[in-house]
Amino acid sequence: MSASIAQQVQSLRRFYNTAATRDLDWRRQQLRQLLRMTENHEKEIYHALHQDLGKSEQESWLAEVGYLQDEIRHSLKHLKKWSQARTSSTPLIAQPGRSWIQPEPLGTVLIIGAWNYPFQLLLAPLVAAIAAGNCALVKPSELSPNTSALIATLLPQYLDQQAFAVVEGAVEETTEVLKQHFDHILYTGGEAVGKIVMRAASEHLTPVTLELGGKSPCIVASDCDLEVTAARIVWSKWMNAGQTCVAPDYVLVEKAFADQLSQAIQNKLEQFYGSDPKHSPDYCKIINKRHLARLQSYLQEQTLLCGGEVEETLHYMSPTLVKDPDLNSPLMEEEIFGPILPIISLENISEAPEFINQRAKPLALYLFTQSKTLEQNVLENTSAGSVCVNDGMMFMANPELPFGGVGNSGMGRYHGQWGFDTFSHLKAVMKRSTWFDINWRYPPFNAKKLKWLKMLK
Ligand code: NAD
Repeated sequence: MSASIAQQVQSLRRFYNTAATRDLDWRRQQLRQLLRMTENHEKEIYHALHQDLGKSEQESWLAEVGYLQDEIRHSLKHLKKWSQARTSSTPLIAQPGRSWIQPEPLGTVLIIGAWNYPFQLLLAPLVAAIAAGNCALVKPSELSPNTSALIATLLPQYLDQQAFAVVEGAVEETTEVLKQHFDHILYTGGEAVGKIVMRAASEHLTPVTLELGGKSPCIVASDCDLEVTAARIVWSKWMNAGQTCVAPDYVLVEKAFADQLSQAIQNKLEQFYGSDPKHSPDYCKIINKRHLARLQSYLQEQTLLCGGEVEETLHYMSPTLVKDPDLNSPLMEEEIFGPILPIISLENISEAPEFINQRAKPLALYLFTQSKTLEQNVLENTSAGSVCVNDGMMFMANPELPFGGVGNSGMGRYHGQWGFDTFSHLKAVMKRSTWFDINWRYPPFNAKKLKWLKMLK
């Protein structure tokens, strides 16, 4: 029988206390092993992702395997620099002296993944945790069972089992995991469970990174390059059948331009997925029947420009465009997280920031325009986890940019050094010399000492 969850966490902690994970060579070895795992089992990973979500190999490589490999290579390249002491200046009052920031591992951390990119959303945070020198327990999503089982089989074959463990399971197991004491928790998923995670973490005063979702707007101005804009919107929205946290949730467009844009999107959809996307090997399926029913319910009493076709046995919903939905309908009040794109027309595109600001802060915001004035207006007057101008999810390809939400779309960040820092304590260190120690700061105080102190500040 496998060890209980509590015993697994204790055993990880014991290993962490040996200080083995502080060694940069050990970390590099683990990262290389993870890379090897993705290389040696590429086909099996594709197969599991296809079984869970119907992903094509191209999509699986781009957004899961290749993406993770880039993250590992980037971490290997920069690990030495990231882990070095970062020099700071020292004020006059503390001279002679030196100051620096010394990153140190947090300890034993927990990573909880989501089902939509079940491979990389679990393992990219693990790359950061390894790079920063932590032990980790990872919990894949039970809603993508094939990828979960594959990770549970492969990870122990490649990584040091004393430092890393996988717990599979659903609510019962995750609840048990969350009772344990971790030094950090990174959770990816929806808002409701995010609150459960944060509540459980508060029992141990454990800091959390919450990678949540929300309704990411896509503003399209009539001066955009229509052909490229339509292609990039369709790529971002219908990759993984819209089950992407940073997919455009809805489009805001000027009334006079709405028909032209809708037509261009429909043309691109046909170009990408054919006249019947059900038969396209590049179009994904919906994760399960519950989510399919949820998505189907969004279409009640809406005006469809295209799509709306559902085939339950295939977990299929066709790419769907909705024209000017009721803003108080569930379609516009909940995160869609599926292949439905509402097109909302505004009298003037300059109203877009106000529309966005009336709602929760999104994870991502997209703007297609050639106008610098509009770009500045949107950047200055809205808040979002990330913004991409003239493209969709492409910003995710840059490991130099932090990835995370703001407000209801999440807290904290990772990717590249941002992930390393999330899983590190940035320890402040000051070292003073003792050869010079004048008494201005020591009692008994007098006016002259105060005058000197003020001068030194
Ligand atoms: P999910 O159902 O896979 O749940 C996420 C994790 O929480 C799973 O590991 C699951 O086992 C666990 N969980 C579920 N119920 C629980 C409970 N009661 N107690 C403890 N743990 C529990 O994923 P989901 O929530 O359906 O994911 C979709 C949401 O995730 C969307 O809102 C999406 O935008 C967001 N998301 C965000 C990101 C990001 O990086 N910011 C990425 C992907 C998805």
